Amino acid sequence: METCSLVQLASDGCKWCASELPKRRRTWCSDKCANAFWNNHWWTLARRAAKRRDKYRCKRCGERAPKRGTPNYSALRKTHRVEVNHIEQARGAHVRLSCLHHLSNLETLCLSCHKAHTAAMRKANRPSR
Ligand SMILES: [Zn+2]
Ligand SMILES: [Zn+2]
Ligand SMILES: [Zn+2]
Repeated sequence: METCSLVQLASDGCKWCASELPKRRRTWCSDKCANAFWNNHWWTLARRAAKRRDKYRCKRCGERAPKRGTPNYSALRKTHRVEVNHIEQARGAHVRLSCLHHLSNLETLCLSCHKAHTAAMRKANRPSR
């Protein structure tokens, strides 16, 4: 995590905002700073934060995830949910703390845009010839 561009490198003080640590606090000055860190490094939380930031809309085509409570919600969710894509591919980072989960590296996509994106990436990564 030494290379993280988001955390402050101050040796004492909050690792997120570098302000002075209150007594009993060791890493972050407040839950807010702790949450900000986790939301940018832990996939489950980052994914949720990214969707919230993008207002549950696909960044590419603007499709919106169905709202809870709409008729046929559970069926709609299967075909119209939104997913979060890593702009720079995560490759197995989903299970660990990683700077690839920075919100700046995440975008919300609908299923079809996500699928198209994954296919394009696969093509791009295929060794040529
Ligand atoms: Zn702080
Ligand atoms: Zn889309
Ligand atoms: Zn980071």
